Amino acid sequence: MNNTKPFEIDRDLISPNRNIVPITSVVDKDRGLLVGGCALLDLGKHYGTPLYVLDEETIRVGCRSYLRALKKYYPGKSLPLYASKANSSLVISSIVASEGMGLDVVSEGELITALKGGVPGERIFLHGNNKSDEELLLAYQSGATVVIDNHHDVERLKEVIPHDKDPLNLMLRFTPGIECHTHEYIKTGHLDSKFGFDPDQVKEVLYELKQIHWTKLTGIHAHIGSQIFELQPHQDLVEVMIDLFQLARKIGHPVKDLNVGGGLGIRYTGSDDPPTIDSWIEGIANTLKNTCKARNIELPRLMCEPGRSLVATAGITLYKLGSRKEIPGSTVYLSVDGGMSDNPRPITYESLYTACLANQPLAKADEMVTIAGKHCESGDVLLKDLGLPNSQSGDILVVFGTGAYNNSMSSNYNRIPRPAAVLVNSGQAELVQKRELPQDLLRNDVLPVRFLEVG
Ligand SMILES: *Cc1c(COP(=O)(O)O)cnc(C)c1O
Repeated sequence: MNNTKPFEIDRDLISPNRNIVPITSVVDKDRGLLVGGCALLDLGKHYGTPLYVLDEETIRVGCRSYLRALKKYYPGKSLPLYASKANSSLVISSIVASEGMGLDVVSEGELITALKGGVPGERIFLHGNNKSDEELLLAYQSGATVVIDNHHDVERLKEVIPHDKDPLNLMLRFTPGIECHTHEYIKTGHLDSKFGFDPDQVKEVLYELKQIHWTKLTGIHAHIGSQIFELQPHQDLVEVMIDLFQLARKIGHPVKDLNVGGGLGIRYTGSDDPPTIDSWIEGIANTLKNTCKARNIELPRLMCEPGRSLVATAGITLYKLGSRKEIPGSTVYLSVDGGMSDNPRPITYESLYTACLANQPLAKADEMVTIAGKHCESGDVLLKDLGLPNSQSGDILVVFGTGAYNNSMSSNYNRIPRPAAVLVNSGQAELVQKRELPQDLLRNDVLPVRFLEVG
């Protein structure tokens, strides 16, 4: 284990992002590790590997923590949105909608997933720095709000949206000049980001939008980064946003929503120490409340957009151990039946994870190993320096914290089919994503007829 006590679950805090493992994890001395009441060994056997497993309870508890904290600390209206790019599927859309949350999308694919999952249009927000006409039109037709990001959005909306029907609701995204890296943050006068209007452009855009009577500007938006462990950046952000909120009001826009984006971090390994959902909301809500009071303005509707902190901890991936390569005096490689195609985060961001064997999750480490994927890429390594008990080919390896930015960023590199996904709850497992088959990958290949004639 690269963490000493991964199964010590912080139930009191009701903040799934503080745990490495799904909050329903239980170790049984005969059946090994159980999540959502299901033995992972059974899931691996029944559904095959690699397998994404999602714990419904962990997702719901996360949603409720956001909803509850907003009610507790913020006297005005509020609405948390799930940033669905973290893991977009019918079942997750349906879960967050049933909890009363809204949802962010950035493409037509994510938008139809949300709609088909049952998220009401008025709770859907379309983001993106290069939206297509089709995406803009579908957002309008489904009653979603469009978060305008740049002048191109404004120009396309003039073409795409009818001028004589119900107005399209808009939010305006700007670059707040607060930049977050994982463990530190900097404030800069000018930000070099591809997202949002530069602060210098905002005033002009607000005047321009005032002339476009078939749209209605209902709020302002900013997002400063991801996997953030500090509370101060979002509190600073709130203050910057209120300035803009007041400016929009002064120019005559009926703005009522203030959306501070997402970014709260999670515990991937024992050395990560993210704040609770409760304290993250508390800091933002208090800053907003106090600033509004000091300036004597009525409370906006407070919105936030958690992605990772809602779904990462709920997800685990099961792999089967295969080949073993020992380099004398150096690395022991254990290879698994997946890798960078189902989890591109280690090769992309050098992300760290925690893992164990499903049949003996608490056994003490006998050796240090490196878990390698099966792709033709030396960098396809999922975990380095993992302490594991003695293992055999065929054992099931459990990697924790894979519920966000794994499935949604997966690929078919090396023509490896995507894994299946199951949702677990109270001892039941339900298939929520079918396993891709190798022949599925040929679906869109076209062989021009002349190549058939050659042979
Ligand atoms: C990615 C993103 C989020 C979610 O970020 P997390 O770090 O996963 O919480 C929210 N809002 C916007 C605009 C984003 O791009």
